[in-house]
Amino acid sequence: MVAKVQCPNCRQQIAHLTGQGACPSCGAPVYLAQREVTILRVLGSAFFASVLVCAGLVVFMVRLGYQAPGAAPMLNYIFVGIAVGELGMMVLIERALLAQETVRGVTGAAIVLAAMAESIAILGVAVFFVNGALDWFVALLALSVAGFLYLATRVPGYGRLLQEYALREQ
Ligand SMILES: [Zn+2]
Repeated sequence: MVAKVQCPNCRQQIAHLTGQGACPSCGAPVYLAQREVTILRVLGSAFFASVLVCAGLVVFMVRLGYQAPGAAPMLNYIFVGIAVGELGMMVLIERALLAQETVRGVTGAAIVLAAMAESIAILGVAVFFVNGALDWFVALLALSVAGFLYLATRVPGYGRLLQEYALREQ
């Protein structure tokens, strides 16, 4: 098994972990955190992929000539309001979960951020189907992507925290 990480315990650069996923110098269980980081990358990518599916779905419906009922223009404003609120909530929830200083807190923060960012794109799909509001859909998609960009800036720090907490929780 190959890893390009610095051991959080002895600070040695690790090229190859032991069979049990431990640091060859000090025996620290580096593998556990690596696995968590990998899982979070896969989950984050899956959530982001679903945003692309949302965009693809709307493009497809536009090409099909979908006619929205246009029943509730107020929904555009309400959903953008919810989306902006969600972006603020993301920061607060992240702060609360990271304050736990546990592996579960860090993984929980990453998953909640990804799920909330993704849900903003779903709001965009909803306003498109109800109101045919392509510009509002694009606005909500942009807010969703902004949420993912925020998460992307946080992930390197999460990796370091996971290394530290996984070691402590052994
Ligand atoms: Zn070590």
